[in-house]
Amino acid sequence: MRSLAFVLLTASVVAQDPGTNYRFRVDLRSHPRALALIANLDVLGACSHGLEHLRGANTCEVIVPPGELAAFRRLALRSTLVDRGRPYAAIARSNSPQAPDTNYFTVPEIEAELLKLQTTYPLLARRVDITALTNTSKTHRGHSMFAIVISDNIAKSEDEPCTLVASQHHARELNSPYMSIQIARRLLAGYATNAAIKKIIDENEIWIVPCMNPDGVSYVWSNDNYWRKNRRDNGGGIFGVDLNRNYPFRWGVCGSSTNRSSNNYRGPSAGSEPETKTIMALAQLKRFEKYLDFHSSGQEVLHTYSPCTTPGAGTKAVIEYWRGKLAAKMSYRVRNPSASGEAPEWHWYENGSLSYLVEVGTSFQPSFSVTVAEEKRVWPGALEFLGWGPSFRGHVRSLKDSTPLSAVLDAASLGSSLGERSRSDAARGRLHLWMPPGTSALTTKATGHDSATGNVTAPAYGTTRQLDRTLVPNLPATTLTAPSTLKIGKPATLVFRTGDPAKAYWIPMAFGSSPGLSIPPRTLPINPDPLFFLSMGSLAPIYSGHIGTLDTRGEASARFTPPNSAAFIGFRFWFTGMTFETGWPLGIKAFSNAHSITLTR
Ligand SMILES: [Zn+2]
Repeated sequence: MRSLAFVLLTASVVAQDPGTNYRFRVDLRSHPRALALIANLDVLGACSHGLEHLRGANTCEVIVPPGELAAFRRLALRSTLVDRGRPYAAIARSNSPQAPDTNYFTVPEIEAELLKLQTTYPLLARRVDITALTNTSKTHRGHSMFAIVISDNIAKSEDEPCTLVASQHHARELNSPYMSIQIARRLLAGYATNAAIKKIIDENEIWIVPCMNPDGVSYVWSNDNYWRKNRRDNGGGIFGVDLNRNYPFRWGVCGSSTNRSSNNYRGPSAGSEPETKTIMALAQLKRFEKYLDFHSSGQEVLHTYSPCTTPGAGTKAVIEYWRGKLAAKMSYRVRNPSASGEAPEWHWYENGSLSYLVEVGTSFQPSFSVTVAEEKRVWPGALEFLGWGPSFRGHVRSLKDSTPLSAVLDAASLGSSLGERSRSDAARGRLHLWMPPGTSALTTKATGHDSATGNVTAPAYGTTRQLDRTLVPNLPATTLTAPSTLKIGKPATLVFRTGDPAKAYWIPMAFGSSPGLSIPPRTLPINPDPLFFLSMGSLAPIYSGHIGTLDTRGEASARFTPPNSAAFIGFRFWFTGMTFETGWPLGIKAFSNAHSITLTR
């Protein structure tokens, strides 16, 4: 039967080539370096993970796009043509007992399912056009991308941690969206009766994007069930970018191709594809705490970093700790990813989102009942993942008006050396930090604000602590100048310069500048002693001009004339200029250096 099928297949190729992918079985014994020679091809299953995974196999299967057929032939490996890509719809309709049934989701079916969930659970679920939400371009074929968002009070935008679940970056992996759709179904169905699920929904906002590649998936159903990429027109009748090689962190460093016909083509530039741009824009909007990404196949949880990228020691510890828990719950193995430029690495780099790629099943399109069984194995891990919390949650806000800040957070204990950072979201300033347990310096930065560094102590894994950061807006240089010594009975002029015209100001006087006046996170260098409070009012003729409004240059001057009494010789008076504006703690905006004047004979 097989040889007859092969003859028919070959005959049909001669008659009219469908332009679809070839599936070859390669005899690894036909060349001493066979595995290395096929390494850059679209290698299936265990063969894609290097020699150590082969476990004595003599053959590997590869998917060869028409544009790479000649190059594949030149490798001169002994190979057998096993299959050509065909419309998945035709396969699903065929009468063969092995043929997959139509239970797998087409793109319209995924979108309809999300709408159905919204209709069934209107208080908990909402379908969102994320292309419209992020104001990004539709896919090359004009598709929008959709998410289902699950949370309590779904009609309101609440201040809650956000998690992203995605699947089907690779079009042919038809079993992957079933995993994420089932997460949505199970969460929504379990809300009323399952305490763990209720807690997850009540305390989080879960975004699920079952289909990352609608153009490619449509093409799988209509033309080629081995289609992997999106449908960018690369020119010359060549299509597609591998979306999971297109993310702009370590783009193109390893495991991807510059060849436009390759199934691993990384795209013309980092983050070039509309699908990538949309999900990146969503991630930059929501600053997800966690990211879970379903692919097939392999029954594996992947390390977040590509083999050509070395994470810091603390980062490695965090990723390995949680990865081990996830894999154990699914009874999956762990391995390295095949390439850089993949989604999870970028989500960690960009937002410090705890991110994992899970390869489900043992093939792309097994019969549907196999996928249903596989999902039962995956779900316990997904449920546990959704319940995990980071080392710290809290907010970054501005000292002015407590405005939420989109801030960049760098915990030294992670050892990030490639610009990996956590970020808080612009709308709420909500922060998350996944860290190894222990004390670490934490630097927090936001545009228009002074960066702040301080120590934090991360708790044991699985415990979440509250952490809030307040950043001080950048202020114009503010100075107070005056002589440092003054003869008793003689006047001195204190010049206060702020670069902040027409502001209310005060130059208080005190007997000391340390420990100062604490108004967290700042400390004013002047002690709140009795003299300080006295200087809130008029002290004429000893001290004048110390309260008022700055001129148009943002300057003012005060006059200090100590009494002409020997009793004051050796006294040291301290001064600090400050400006006032609403929205600041106690209304104090900027303050100068401390300046002292010592009285002499
Ligand atoms: Zn994949």
